[in-house]
Amino acid sequence: MIQMYESLGISREVYEYSEKILSGLKDRFQTIDETAEYNQLKVIKAMQDARVSAECFETSSGYGYNDRGRDTLEEVYANIFHTEAALVRPQITCGTHALAIALSANLRPGDELLSISGKPYDTLEEVIGIRPSRGSLAEYGVTYAQVDLLPDGSFDYDAIRAAIKPQTKMVEIQRSKGYQTRPTLSVTQIGEAIAFVKNIRPDIICMVDNCYGEFVEKKEPGELGADMVVGSLIKNPGGGLAPAGGYIAGTLACIEQCAFRLTSPGLGREVGANFGVMQSFYQGLFLAPTVTAAALKGAVFAANVYEKLGFAVVPDGSEERHDIIQAITFGFPEGVIAFCEGIQAAAPVDSYVTPEPWAMPGYDCDVIMAAGAFVQGSSIELSADGPIKPPYAVYFQGGLTWPHAKLGIMMSLQKLYEKGLVKLA
Ligand SMILES: *Cc1c(COP(=O)(O)O)cnc(C)c1O
Repeated sequence: MIQMYESLGISREVYEYSEKILSGLKDRFQTIDETAEYNQLKVIKAMQDARVSAECFETSSGYGYNDRGRDTLEEVYANIFHTEAALVRPQITCGTHALAIALSANLRPGDELLSISGKPYDTLEEVIGIRPSRGSLAEYGVTYAQVDLLPDGSFDYDAIRAAIKPQTKMVEIQRSKGYQTRPTLSVTQIGEAIAFVKNIRPDIICMVDNCYGEFVEKKEPGELGADMVVGSLIKNPGGGLAPAGGYIAGTLACIEQCAFRLTSPGLGREVGANFGVMQSFYQGLFLAPTVTAAALKGAVFAANVYEKLGFAVVPDGSEERHDIIQAITFGFPEGVIAFCEGIQAAAPVDSYVTPEPWAMPGYDCDVIMAAGAFVQGSSIELSADGPIKPPYAVYFQGGLTWPHAKLGIMMSLQKLYEKGLVKLA
């Protein structure tokens, strides 16, 4: 084994350090496997109940009328996320697009959007108009208000109550930390917040940005009253096989609105050819619970490796997980860069290129991104992003298999070690 690792560039010191860390993680990994088992059964049951058949994988073109594969897949998603309906489409280009549809489809001029989990994910700033942008909700007269989480990462219920106004039409809750070093919210916490909001005003639409959270727990936010649950297919639910796409699962009323926005008023869900992606959508969803488990093991391993080396990690090494993202704060840009170089060097694709910080659309500073992915930009595949600004934290996620996630972390450590940025005791 060690020779195989050495052939990939891992030194004996890094190998031994890693094995020592791993020997303490057996119980954690067992819990992760048990959640994957439960969620695998949930997915199989949903596919059986919707009578998924070989015809569901057939391609459609043109308008895409009567696309049985597409309609059945949407039924499967609705079942898994405990919602009345779902939109799951290759025409939804990414998570940001899915969220933009969910917001713009259900908000009208004069309505207010209230985020109760603090600042939303970076790319949503332009969607909402927090940072001015063409076509933002702000341009259409939709206002925005925000309640930050308390210092311990929990909801600020007093402030939420005070922020709910007659024009508040929708509440947004972001499950995952995104590019922040706050804790990720559990599904139970999200459910409590939804119940609190609904108790004040039952008509407020509660939307959860579910990116990176799918299949991490046994429950999804739809089970606890979310009106819309939104995510990307090149993250958890695509299982690494979906080549693109996004989903919105929710109440029939919300999903109809979203469909009219995505395609056209009047056409809605009836149109939208599948271009032959259906098998990858179904098969990726089938694999998603175990792929998510692999990514989670990688995240737990990374947390423990870097915590022991003295870096701040969120979540910490022993904390329960609610998404697949691991934040590691290096405090200096070289750490972020070396980490990303290691992730890149461990990839099956593009392992020979060196990632560099660069300006990216949607972000307000240079970002370094490491990914050697089969699907471009896929972050359920092993990948790391680091905005080059204080506190110089790297956000690591993914890994279609646990051995690959493990190699990636070991390689990141190798790069830091070679540059003299860490000492291995
Ligand atoms: C990734 C992510 C998004 C945006 O998804 P893209 O597919 O990158 O557009 C939104 N919110 C959160 C919390 C995310 O992690």
